[in-house]
Amino acid sequence: MTIDWTKIRADFPLLARQVHGKPLIYLDSANTAQKPAAVIAAVDAFYRQHNANVSRAVHQLGSEATEAYEGARRTLAAFLHVRADELVLCSGTTFALNLVAYSWALPRLQPSDVILVTRMEHHANIVPWQLVAQRTGATLRVAELRPDGSLDLEALWAAMTPDVKLLAVAHVSNVLGTVNPVAAICREAARRGIVSVVDGSQAVPHMSVDIAAIGCDFYAATGHKLCGPTGTGLLWAKREHLQAMPPFLGGGEMIKEVRFDGTVFNDPPHKFEAGTPNIAGFVGLGAAVDYLSAIGMDAIQQREAELLAHATEALAQIDGLRIHGTAPDKAAVISFSIDGIHSHDLATLLDLEGVAVRSGQHCAHPLLQWLGVGTTCRASLAFYNTHDEIDAFVAALHKVKRLLA
Ligand code: PLP
Repeated sequence: MTIDWTKIRADFPLLARQVHGKPLIYLDSANTAQKPAAVIAAVDAFYRQHNANVSRAVHQLGSEATEAYEGARRTLAAFLHVRADELVLCSGTTFALNLVAYSWALPRLQPSDVILVTRMEHHANIVPWQLVAQRTGATLRVAELRPDGSLDLEALWAAMTPDVKLLAVAHVSNVLGTVNPVAAICREAARRGIVSVVDGSQAVPHMSVDIAAIGCDFYAATGHKLCGPTGTGLLWAKREHLQAMPPFLGGGEMIKEVRFDGTVFNDPPHKFEAGTPNIAGFVGLGAAVDYLSAIGMDAIQQREAELLAHATEALAQIDGLRIHGTAPDKAAVISFSIDGIHSHDLATLLDLEGVAVRSGQHCAHPLLQWLGVGTTCRASLAFYNTHDEIDAFVAALHKVKRLLA
């Protein structure tokens, strides 16, 4: 079946707007993705017709809202090939990783233990582990990269010594686009008794992800990069971990019975969902997953690979432009710098041409230190981008470069 990508692009109302009098070319989807009309409509319909709190009221609206929220959990679980009762809904990857840090790692780690992370992690997959290390006396160890921005797997295996208790690794790098072989990595970790945590923020929007097949202990992802509303995300964890972990936050929804002489917590995943959740957000995220599934994640991956190849080839023609991250297995994220030009200047002038790219350190200071460039510009593509947009972006870059030279 051939897919009409022009028709799909028209599903995204915001992409029709102009910026500074120019047609918008949105190349910042790794930061947050745009939302199709189906998602906006689902959120709108929830507030117009079903709005109530979940798991509390016996009235009709209460049960409709609960069903909508739990339905979204089931949709997400099927999308990721896991059980719905192992999926904790939360505000995003940052929350999900902190939940693992505070509920799994903090009560367990000792001064003699090591937490292993990689050089390419987002701050959300570094700082929670640093906080745990400070509180427990554990040590943080870093697995380094090859020059092309792929993980040095020999070095990673060597770093997995018996004192490593937890390994935290990105599925896809938000700066380099590198796709890590997480199934092989988690298999090796499990063989050595190391608990694995995968940050799937940049993977889930771009490829079919089968968490069960990866074989990790924890998998985190964020909804707003998946065409869903902001403030939505998830943590999948093995049932044995969810059973053993103490709650992270206390309050309503996460309890069965509260007495002053002892409170009985709810079963997972509700034990980790204290307070009123982002109900409308998850209704929107469920709609986003339905929308993406109807296109097909394999088709999306293929489309983005074509856009990436086009953009990489066109950018390579620009004198003095360097692409950071050239691993063979790469998602449609292109970080680049141009000799002698600051990334913020590039991004600011590109914006005047209608092109939205991100500049700076991309919440990955240790990686940028390793790249040795201070900052980069990042053009991140999604299936709703077009080949014409890539040509227009490259033409704008030529123009901006001439202005700044
Ligand atoms: N991890 C990676 C690889 C990311 O790209 C991001 C967002 O940019 C995050 C974690 C944090 O996600 P959130 O801000 O939605 O919690």
